[in-house]
Amino acid sequence: MRHRIVVLGAGYTGATAAGRLAKRLRREDVAITVVNAESDFVERVRMHQLAVGQDLKPRPFSEMFAGTGVELRLAKVTGVDVDRKTVAVIDTDGPGELGYDTLVYALGSGWNAQGVPGSAEHAYEIAGRPGAFRLRERLARLDTGQTVVVVGGGLTGLEAATEIAEARPDLDVALVARGGLGDGLSPKGREHLRKVFGRLGITVHEHTAVTGVEAGRVTTSDGRAIPAAVTVWTAGFAVHPIAKATTMEVTGTGQIVVDGTMRSVSHPDVYAIGDAAMAMGPGNKPLRMSCASGTPTAWQAADAIAARLTGGKLPNAPIRYFNQCISLGRKEGLIQYVTADDRAVRAVLTGRLAAVYKELVCKGAAWGVANPTLGLPTRRRRVTREWAAAGSAVNALE
Ligand SMILES: Cc1cc2nc3c(=O)[nH]c(=O)nc-3n(C[C@H](O)[C@H](O)[C@H](O)COP(=O)(O)OP(=O)(O)OC[C@H]3O[C@@H](n4cnc5c(N)ncnc54)[C@H](O)[C@@H]3O)c2cc1C
Repeated sequence: MRHRIVVLGAGYTGATAAGRLAKRLRREDVAITVVNAESDFVERVRMHQLAVGQDLKPRPFSEMFAGTGVELRLAKVTGVDVDRKTVAVIDTDGPGELGYDTLVYALGSGWNAQGVPGSAEHAYEIAGRPGAFRLRERLARLDTGQTVVVVGGGLTGLEAATEIAEARPDLDVALVARGGLGDGLSPKGREHLRKVFGRLGITVHEHTAVTGVEAGRVTTSDGRAIPAAVTVWTAGFAVHPIAKATTMEVTGTGQIVVDGTMRSVSHPDVYAIGDAAMAMGPGNKPLRMSCASGTPTAWQAADAIAARLTGGKLPNAPIRYFNQCISLGRKEGLIQYVTADDRAVRAVLTGRLAAVYKELVCKGAAWGVANPTLGLPTRRRRVTREWAAAGSAVNALE
């Protein structure tokens, strides 16, 4: 009987974990199934590019998983029963159910409208492909001089505002940020950001909270109305409610609480990675939702599962940050170097070189999904028969 590993979600982390598990474990011993709603890999970090009309390289899973032994189940996950160890799905044939011995939960996140009145109805978002395509279609219909307001001064907001302003210099683009422009960056980083925003003609409304989104404008906490033919909402991500509906220990926002090996602290047969997980990083700070820290959580989980199934050594590589890579359109970028716990240091890389660097990082991230052991030799280990059969008893042995 093969040990059933079911991976929910084939984004940056789920696809990486599945591929890495396939390289670590013998095919005779495990059945690895990935459940994903879409048949190709979505480069979420490029959604602002998609929104302005750029076309992305198609990355079908049929090619990505070819020859790996990973099976793709094209379906939408509708629920998880962590006590019965089953996953409820729906596909073109209707509802179905999958059993698992080990579950890797990697469903990522979507946009977070934050309950601001009108945001869900009137704003556009770029947290995923459908939203990016909707915005793309809307931007294409805007006439010269019309206004686009990007809400959110985080990295996604900075990338979206600059991408739109560069692609459509005829539009009047503004950014609304709760804090100052580039808060969290070094002084040099902030200075560069101001220069680029100035050059692209982006109006910045700093220290401003959006309190409402209406057709044609956003309202702010200081009583202003900012014209917005299109409002792009980038103020944070929210996880899907599926984990919260289970008996697993989750945070108030629904992220699964995991230990250093990405294993659920309440359900040892479940691992959570990427945006869906609440994992602690250096300085005991929660890892932020990002590929930068999400991909290492996928490696960590895959290696921990393989170690537990084969009696190997548990991984204990610390997950740390190196830099924040920000695209500012296609011709400009900003690489902000950071401490292990993600605080900006003085050093930055700017200009065209930074744009090239960021492009290589994006390409590298997609390459890494298809090459989850980073080109290292495949080492498939034998799953101990009793452990494979016993499933969760593996965990009880520890
Ligand atoms: C515009 C933009 C720019 C970004 N730029 C950066 C950046 O420069 N650097 C960085 O580190 N991070 C960046 N991020 C964040 C980064 O994209 C996410 O943190 C990362 O994608 C999280 O990976 P994940 O595997 O957890 O989730 P995802 O990549 O979102 O993957 C989740 C997968 O689960 C699938 N799925 C979801 N729900 C279901 C369901 N119910 N049933 C079946 N399948 C489902 C989805 O289709 C998807 O394939 C950016 C995000 C955005 C939106």
